Amino acid sequence: MGHWHKLSTGSDIACALSLDLALDGFALKIDNGILVGATQVPCENKDERPLGEISLIILHGISLPEGNFGGPYIKDLFCNTLDCKEHPDFVDLNGLRVSSHLVIRRDGEIVQFVSFLDRAWHAGPSFYRGRTDCNDFSIGIELEGTDYIPYTDSQYEALVHIYSLLRQSYSIENIVGHSDVAPERKTDPGHSFLWSRFRAMI
Ligand SMILES: [Zn+2]
Repeated sequence: MGHWHKLSTGSDIACALSLDLALDGFALKIDNGILVGATQVPCENKDERPLGEISLIILHGISLPEGNFGGPYIKDLFCNTLDCKEHPDFVDLNGLRVSSHLVIRRDGEIVQFVSFLDRAWHAGPSFYRGRTDCNDFSIGIELEGTDYIPYTDSQYEALVHIYSLLRQSYSIENIVGHSDVAPERKTDPGHSFLWSRFRAMI
């Protein structure tokens, strides 16, 4: 469970399997801030949204160590259990308290760390259309990846589905990159994320 499944259509096999798939990947829905069907991992790095507003999606790229995929370190970072002695790149992360609402792994698995109703700590100092502190009113989605390695088909498909669900549930005005709201500090999700491809899919 928790994996995103692409539903094939137009064949008898797809029909035969559709109920099964519907019970698995396509049962994704949002219920009281929880993405039902995603893998849920409890995370303490969160607090209340000061205004309760949810109007922006901020897209990130993350990998630990950079360019390495599939390991436990992103989860460890968000759960405050990362051993910063495990890799030289982790030294800067010592004591950092961060999180994001969702992580989409390379295989399309969706992991939720923070309820959409709560404020996750993903954007840092940031501004959007004259406002600061974007964490207050945004949802953070991390794509496991780097600025320079293409994101996977499964990640685009999962993101498109999540985007649709979020728009149905909240008054989402826009989706932007972390680099758009913190341009002097951040480059993610990077040129490897093809906005044109995403826009064509939604
Ligand atoms: Zn970021």
